[in-house]
Amino acid sequence: MLDINGFNKLLNTSFDNQNMKNSSPHKRTPKSVNACQPKLSAKQESDICLSCGECCKRYWITVLPQEAKVLAKSLRMGEKEFLEEKCVLFVKLFPKSTPGLLTIPTAFFPKRIYELLEKEMVEVPQSFFVVPQIVLKRERGECVLLGAGNKCSAYKTRPEPCRLFPFIAVAGLREQYPFCPLFHKTFKDSSKESRAYYKKVQKYFKSVHAKGFFGAKGVWKHAPQKGSLLLNEKALGEISLGELEDLLSITRKNNKA
Ligand code: SF4
Ligand code: SF4
Repeated sequence: MLDINGFNKLLNTSFDNQNMKNSSPHKRTPKSVNACQPKLSAKQESDICLSCGECCKRYWITVLPQEAKVLAKSLRMGEKEFLEEKCVLFVKLFPKSTPGLLTIPTAFFPKRIYELLEKEMVEVPQSFFVVPQIVLKRERGECVLLGAGNKCSAYKTRPEPCRLFPFIAVAGLREQYPFCPLFHKTFKDSSKESRAYYKKVQKYFKSVHAKGFFGAKGVWKHAPQKGSLLLNEKALGEISLGELEDLLSITRKNNKA
């Protein structure tokens, strides 16, 4: 069963490019931003967008397996090459008190990871929701795919969070995006598309839980060999792909028991 709190937390999560603070366009609510705002055509929206690229400079963008395939192809790269050169692995830990999908009792964590947690937390919780993600790399403070003139070098195949930004209809979102004039001048209710996207992410979690993250049977056939371990969005240290697989095999065994 999906842990909704952890799931929402993950989906509401992106990273400030400086300090990895929580700040994200990936939020969900059925409410519109402001029903009084005019609905604009795609052409009008495109005229208002300043192409400032700010939305490509602030977030770590999650890539799902199918998106990686399509992106790699559009960039004329092999999938392995794309994942190694353009992506990084994030393994996020969120404290969680009940068993479930991708949930691992702390007692099974390798000593090295437990010690990292101990340094950060007054009391280490009994279990964690463990979320492995592939995200686009950032270089010089911006998405690795942002090109000259603030144009996306893979615009037609850009990942879904980029397509949805900044139009996900979320009450209170205006305050979070003072940098985006397009968002402040337009209204487009993408809550339906957002819900469809969340279902895809949910399916991805379930697959990782059932099959593992990497390898012949895993969700990813290729992946960076090591990544960043994060606790509630804060960087803790490195984690190897082997350590991640060990953790995920524990969650499978634990949930079968
Ligand atoms: S993939 Fe393209 S649209 Fe998305 S953040 Fe990167 S440069 Fe911007
Ligand atoms: S931040 Fe807003 S105005 Fe600037 S490029 Fe992104 S969508 Fe356009």
